[in-house]
Amino acid sequence: MKKKWLLVSLMFTTQVVIGQQSDSAFFRSLSDEILLNSRAYENLGFLTKKIGNRLSGSASLSTAIEFCTRLLREAGADTVYMQKVLVPTWQRGGAEEAYVMDKITGKRVLNILSLGGSVATTNKGLEAEVVEVESFDQLASLGTRVAGKIVFYNYPMQPVTINAFTAYVDAVKYRTQGAIEAAKLGALAVIVRSTTFARDNNAHTGSVRYDESIVKIPAVAISTQDAEWLHGQLNKTTNVRIALRLQCRILPPSTSYNVIGELRGKSFPKEVILVGAHLDSWDVGEGAHDDGAGCMHSIEVIRALRALQVQTKRTIRVVLFTNEENGVAGGREYALMVKGENTKHLFAIESDAGGFTPRGFNFTMNESQFSRIRQWQSLFSGYGGSDWQFGYAGTDIAPLGEQGVALAGFLPDTQRYFDVHHSKADVFENVNKRELLLGAINIAGLAWLVSEYGLEK
Ligand SMILES: [Zn+2]
Repeated sequence: MKKKWLLVSLMFTTQVVIGQQSDSAFFRSLSDEILLNSRAYENLGFLTKKIGNRLSGSASLSTAIEFCTRLLREAGADTVYMQKVLVPTWQRGGAEEAYVMDKITGKRVLNILSLGGSVATTNKGLEAEVVEVESFDQLASLGTRVAGKIVFYNYPMQPVTINAFTAYVDAVKYRTQGAIEAAKLGALAVIVRSTTFARDNNAHTGSVRYDESIVKIPAVAISTQDAEWLHGQLNKTTNVRIALRLQCRILPPSTSYNVIGELRGKSFPKEVILVGAHLDSWDVGEGAHDDGAGCMHSIEVIRALRALQVQTKRTIRVVLFTNEENGVAGGREYALMVKGENTKHLFAIESDAGGFTPRGFNFTMNESQFSRIRQWQSLFSGYGGSDWQFGYAGTDIAPLGEQGVALAGFLPDTQRYFDVHHSKADVFENVNKRELLLGAINIAGLAWLVSEYGLEK
């Protein structure tokens, strides 16, 4: 009896080892192919330097859509097509200025950026006293004393928090919700400290939310250095006044597209593994880390598998979503389309955390799926992506998650991401070629494993 069990267990062990050996050999060839032959970095250079930033409704986003359609064809996708999406259109407009009039030093210009979606001031602008708060509780305690004033939210990303995304999520509520809360109390505008650890003079934009039942007030981000300066002024003097003039505007929605490319699966073509990122960006910088890097990661998955002449068992579908930054219209429309399709989405991976050194993945899936894929975790340790946990996977694929699709979010190192995020510093020069390619290896490896083995036991 014992002998028999020993034999069975030996056979089982041998099988697993053989499986892992071939998987690990495949990872090696995938890695070699990407490190030797990828053009992801050079293509990111073209996207960022020749096409530039890509806000929804802009001509450059349309050019980027054409460019990436071509890249997917050249990568060897069996099918490349576009899905029409209606996207909100907001423009920063012309003048965008804020300054403090100081009795001693005179006019002091502040480095600001309108938040995406902000309403403008009147053409003349507005001028009002500034009130600084560090929290919504402090705002509430001031009550209607902020009426007729500009509220300055000066809450820094907490330096003691290790994971920069955690610090971002904690701080960003003042950017997204701040205008609503201040307007409820009668404030005229809000100035929000940029959500970044960096101390410099770049303001970081991002979406502001409004409530249709509450008056919409202008909202801007201020650089961290100017936030510190303003804080100092407010400690020194009373009645610090800021003049603010914004000319941003909301135009009617415009037509955009999700770009889709597939490698058709040979055994289960109707079962889809999605690899995605978003092609739009904010209108400052070049959208290099956010999210040009993710787009190039995704296209590289198809190129590398094709170059290795791999016929995947399931379909690998790359989706470059439009309008993640100010609407998520691309992600929502895609999830709607999928409902009417004769396919089953097993798994979706998103790369939208930058092109930095890979660390791992965040997963949103059930326990049994997670315990299944954990068997593969050690395959990633040689390539940097083996830090695996449950967590938020990505904004564009979240609507698929609501339909029960298992999700993963690629997780590169977080420490430098918010130095550049949504600012003019998000440029190609801040992307490292090897770090970018290592990300693609991990994403391609995970997509390939799920395509080969599925997610069910
Ligand atoms: Zn992004």
